Amino acid sequence: MYFIAKNNKQTVAISDGKKLILLNGSTDNNDSINHFINKLLRLKDNFWIKCTCCDNALLIICALHGKIYIRCKSRAKHDINCFFIQKNIVFYSKYFKPIYSKRSKQFFLYKNVTDIVNNDTDIASIETKNVSCTKLGQILFTILDDAKVNIFYTNSSISVFEQLTLITNAFNDDQKLIAKNIPLKKCYRYLLNDTMLAKAEIFLQKANYWFPHPLEPFVIFTSIVTKITYNSFITKKDNKTYKVANKISTTSHWINLDKSAPYFLAVSAIIGKDNQIILKDAFAIPIFSTRVLMPIESNYERTILKIILSVVNKYYNITIIKPLFDFITDNKEKYRPDFIVIHNNNKIFIEVLGSNNPDYLAHKNHINRIAKPACNHFIAVKAFDLQNNYDHFIYDLTNALQESL
Ligand SMILES: [Zn+2]
Repeated sequence: MYFIAKNNKQTVAISDGKKLILLNGSTDNNDSINHFINKLLRLKDNFWIKCTCCDNALLIICALHGKIYIRCKSRAKHDINCFFIQKNIVFYSKYFKPIYSKRSKQFFLYKNVTDIVNNDTDIASIETKNVSCTKLGQILFTILDDAKVNIFYTNSSISVFEQLTLITNAFNDDQKLIAKNIPLKKCYRYLLNDTMLAKAEIFLQKANYWFPHPLEPFVIFTSIVTKITYNSFITKKDNKTYKVANKISTTSHWINLDKSAPYFLAVSAIIGKDNQIILKDAFAIPIFSTRVLMPIESNYERTILKIILSVVNKYYNITIIKPLFDFITDNKEKYRPDFIVIHNNNKIFIEVLGSNNPDYLAHKNHINRIAKPACNHFIAVKAFDLQNNYDHFIYDLTNALQESL
């Protein structure tokens, strides 16, 4: 059996062991099954599975409500005695059934030419103060989440180019709309540089006649940036400074702009009064490094992630997730761990404490109570007092990981 790429039909062989898992489905969570489920989840959007019963018989991998189903793409193409026609293969995964808060895929940017920095009730809540409240930010969070660059696998790191490709694919998702029937991809212009900017100017000058009426024509660029100020940024690739008309938004207003660099940035461009293109709004998310585009919320989190990586290095097959959207408990309470470290069946939540402020700690404590039942271990680390906390944190994390060996 093979995985077959939806776009270029390239195939990847499925080993006999994995094939056996595929034929049996599973309700339990052993190690190899979980790794395979993990793989199915990563591949499902871009790959089918080639069935063995007939040529051209394909299987779809779908994930729904915490289960993965293997289904015939078109039943007529399969032999009537095909195993997959007879049997519904279902995998249950306890790892990957987080229910995310409402994630809009429709982005009405520049509706009635209002400012892009509108409050967005879809993701803004008391519990998610750090999460962007701008529409551009909402797009960027959704894109990074869909591209899964917020997930780090210790035994399968991917290059910057591959990460950027995943991001581009997430922009090209037909379900993401900027208005009814207008996909977001029509407005996405990849990495920002002067050539792309000049092309976008011509595009925008002609866009008025087809762009949906209440919206002002715009395009979106992305860029890895090494520095941001109030309203300018420097691109990594060309080391060029670009000015933005409005203040650049970030994940939170209290982060140190210099220390939090580098960033992944989305910037919108429109046609200004003089019929020339201008960069209007930008949203910047701090990332781990210019090679690992994993989003983080502050330099504190970067430091903690570095420590986590140095500890988990000694183990095989560890997944680190930076959740970008809230999880919701059965009681409709929201929580969002700063990091999740997963090893075999062992789920470790890591909370990065950024201050000693009593209100802040009380709030964090409240969230911890909600989050704890969802994990095997909960570790809080005082990032602001790392000198005293460093050994303790390493000890706690190592101990928690030992349990899953
Ligand atoms: Zn078949």
